[in-house]
Amino acid sequence: MAKEMARVTDFDLILPEKLKSNLFAHLFPGDGDEHGAVISAGVVHTDRGLRLLARNLFLAEDGTDYVPGKRGYRMLTPRFVMERSRYCRDQDLAYLAVHNHGEGESVGFSGVDLASHERGYPALIDILQGQPVGGIVFAKHAVAGDLWLPSGGRAVLREGRVIGGSIERLYPKPPSVPLGVDSTYDRQARLLGDRGQSLLNGAKVGIIGAGGVGALLGLYMARLGVGHIVAVDPDRIDITNLPRVPGATRFDARIWFTADGRPKWLQKFGRRISSRKVDIMRRVARRAKRDIRFDGIFGDVVDDTIAMQFRDCDFLFLAADTHQARLVFNALVHQYLIPGVQVGSKVSVDKVTGKINDVFSVVRPVLPDSGCLWCAKLVDQARLAEESLPKEKREHQRYIEEVPAPSVVTLNGVGASHAANEFLFSWTGLRRPTCEEQYLLYKPRERKTKMIIPLRKEECIECGGGTESRRARGDSMKLPTR
Ligand SMILES: [Zn+2]
Ligand SMILES: [Zn+2]
Repeated sequence: MAKEMARVTDFDLILPEKLKSNLFAHLFPGDGDEHGAVISAGVVHTDRGLRLLARNLFLAEDGTDYVPGKRGYRMLTPRFVMERSRYCRDQDLAYLAVHNHGEGESVGFSGVDLASHERGYPALIDILQGQPVGGIVFAKHAVAGDLWLPSGGRAVLREGRVIGGSIERLYPKPPSVPLGVDSTYDRQARLLGDRGQSLLNGAKVGIIGAGGVGALLGLYMARLGVGHIVAVDPDRIDITNLPRVPGATRFDARIWFTADGRPKWLQKFGRRISSRKVDIMRRVARRAKRDIRFDGIFGDVVDDTIAMQFRDCDFLFLAADTHQARLVFNALVHQYLIPGVQVGSKVSVDKVTGKINDVFSVVRPVLPDSGCLWCAKLVDQARLAEESLPKEKREHQRYIEEVPAPSVVTLNGVGASHAANEFLFSWTGLRRPTCEEQYLLYKPRERKTKMIIPLRKEECIECGGGTESRRARGDSMKLPTR
């Protein structure tokens, strides 16, 4: 691990959209002058690199906290620096000093800026006690960064990514246009551009659940040209899944053993050796894109080592229907600032009469600023407690065996398509910036589509801005796993 850290040469800065727009209103009020601020940030070390997650924004008031400098043009006052750096230390967060230059497409530190880092940062690293310290400089359409690591290394900013309904990317200078995009993607690159297509190839997408909805998402992601998928599901395919899982065959379900009329023990054996759902998704993905990187995890996202494999994703899909999975997904979104969407379909049946009530597909975008599944009471404490019991106890408690819920491929398809578009239009920056985050409910019986504004509670311990909240904590907090 220590060796890994010493090799770090660049880092990405992830900014929630609201924090970025508050910061930019302060840095670029239209006076053409320089302004200052401090950002506290969570830290994520993964194989894909180092990420800093902007958590709190402290604006430096001109003339009070940000004053004419002795050596440079302007500087943060020692008092402001000391107070914010102590806050970062106490909260186990990185300290980033922010200012701005110009309005252009490129930006870099001046010699005076870099000299001030050399003078000030070694002492700040001592104060921070184990967290990095850095400087960030913005132009209106660019960002550069110089990060000093507690291990002694130093990293430059590669990309600033603003997480909202449409993802915005900022770089020290405009990125070069990709050359020679695969003609396979000609038709869709006409919508996304070669740049959009190469962004898809560079993306790591997490899919929690490889059942009816997850399997469609895996298919869509691979066909779109996403370069890296990580998918998790604890189940093997069975014969009743065949009407819904693309690419699943009768052989995958070991039909010879599991068909109606076979002895119970033989059916049981067949179910034990049938194909894993994640392996079917891998096969489908490889057929769509031969060089795809596919991590298929046969297990439960509630296990800590498994959940941790999703923390460096660029986008998350939740296509599993347990409340424990909802809790973990919701935490991944907010602790690691990864945009995500929960998707599913439901047919509610009256338990007594067996009459079909509501039928719907639902797609819920979950973004750092949009409120969360916890705020919206979509994670239920009683269900969590029930799910944490072993299977036998669960059935005993309910006095009945769990009846399989109705499930239909077309309902899954509506949800999966909308969810995949959530990813596609935000990741490639195609969504209009004015559009609101809303849950989408599609009801085929009423032939109706309903939009629901998600709830957001500022005091929420998962997504809120309070000092206790999980928001943007990165590696310094444990996920709600077992
Ligand atoms: Zn400067
Ligand atoms: Zn919340």
